[in-house]
Amino acid sequence: MKSIVITNKQVAIVGGGPGGLTLARLLQAKGIAVTVYERDVNSAIRVQGATLDLHVESGLKAIEAAGLMKRFEETYRPGADKGRVVDQQGNIIYDEHDQAGEKAFGDALFRPEIDRADLRSLLVASLQADTVVWDRQLVDLSPVGDGWQLSFKNGITAFADLIIGADGANSKVRSVITPITPFYAGTTILQGNVENASVRAPTMYELLKGGKIYAHVEEKYVHVSAKGDGSIDFYVSLIRPENWAKASGIDFSDPTQRSAWFEDEFSGWGQVWFELFDQTGVPFLVRPQYCVPFDQHWEAQSSITVLGDAAHIAPPTGEGVNLAMLDALELSECLTSPSFLNTQSAIATYEKQMLARGSDEAQVAMDTVAWMHSQNASMQLVQLLTGSSGE
Ligand SMILES: Cc1cc2nc3c(=O)[nH]c(=O)nc-3n(C[C@H](O)[C@H](O)[C@H](O)COP(=O)(O)OP(=O)(O)OC[C@H]3O[C@@H](n4cnc5c(N)ncnc54)[C@H](O)[C@@H]3O)c2cc1C
Repeated sequence: MKSIVITNKQVAIVGGGPGGLTLARLLQAKGIAVTVYERDVNSAIRVQGATLDLHVESGLKAIEAAGLMKRFEETYRPGADKGRVVDQQGNIIYDEHDQAGEKAFGDALFRPEIDRADLRSLLVASLQADTVVWDRQLVDLSPVGDGWQLSFKNGITAFADLIIGADGANSKVRSVITPITPFYAGTTILQGNVENASVRAPTMYELLKGGKIYAHVEEKYVHVSAKGDGSIDFYVSLIRPENWAKASGIDFSDPTQRSAWFEDEFSGWGQVWFELFDQTGVPFLVRPQYCVPFDQHWEAQSSITVLGDAAHIAPPTGEGVNLAMLDALELSECLTSPSFLNTQSAIATYEKQMLARGSDEAQVAMDTVAWMHSQNASMQLVQLLTGSSGE
């Protein structure tokens, strides 16, 4: 019987996000020796970010292939996928909670939500003990023989035959593969979280009803989501120059300066929003958004590749985690298929479809950025949610 091209190779995955951990699980299930090197200092660190909806054709497909569907069904948050489109006073324009017909597992359009931290825990728990090595921020990769030496910020080094960069938007691994850099997408996201939200932001907490809220007003986009730990995550997306936050001179980590900025920028908006803005804790993140060139391409190498945001960062449209997990699935299939003669051809096949898909999504994401910040974005969103053309 033909063997697979990575038999007896030591595989290092850099980054323990959804993409990297999914790949680790899928490879380990096929008997491959794999280690995940993650920057976060330990597994208990608080994972920031909104809830994630997984899609049948991508994220859920990977979960299924990883043999984790039962665990996922026990962990996802029923009802968290329902959203409300609201105006700047918090009046509801469209309410998914009112719509008839519950979707469920098995429906092609069912998009169950899971908190980012729960997804990470689920994936880490599915791995053999010590697969994830925490506190390993990669700072350098140098070729050694046919493999690589990984050097971490804490001075520790490691060796691997095959490197997979799953290290997100500012990927260190990507820069070893290609000089192509993402371009500024024209928007900057401010992201915050309010803990114990039923007490600290009660009006917004009620309005959320355990789901999501979308507001598109004055070319701003505000996205709010309830999380399973009782907190509320929100982000504000604004059209701004790339260096706007730095150039503004505002210290967004300072609650007083931050609140003053929100008061000015959101003047005329209802009090419900200021519950979020004034109650947000630390860290408060300022994230300029980047997108890969639509025609990005590189020659496949034999011992290094990338997936997820490291490969094809784009502004958020609700696809990023799903694409990272689908990349992981397809890469695991290529690396463990007996039909490839060497790792280079396995990686080339994976990268061809991954780059094409990433390019399509980058174009969709840039189109989405444009309409989401347009004057009639709320109506466009309602049309999207109801499947109506608006004509
Ligand atoms: C505001 C916002 C909202 C979003 N909302 C959604 C959404 O609703 N749905 C959705 O599907 N996507 C969403 N996305 C996109 C999504 O977060 C990403 O596409 C997704 O997390 C990519 O997964 P990944 O595994 O490739 O990378 P990441 O999730 O970024 O994981 C990378 C991992 O690598 C680690 N790491 C980074 N550098 C190093 C290093 N040098 N050494 C070692 N480890 C390192 C990081 O700590 C992290 O654990 C959103 C993005 C943003 C900014």
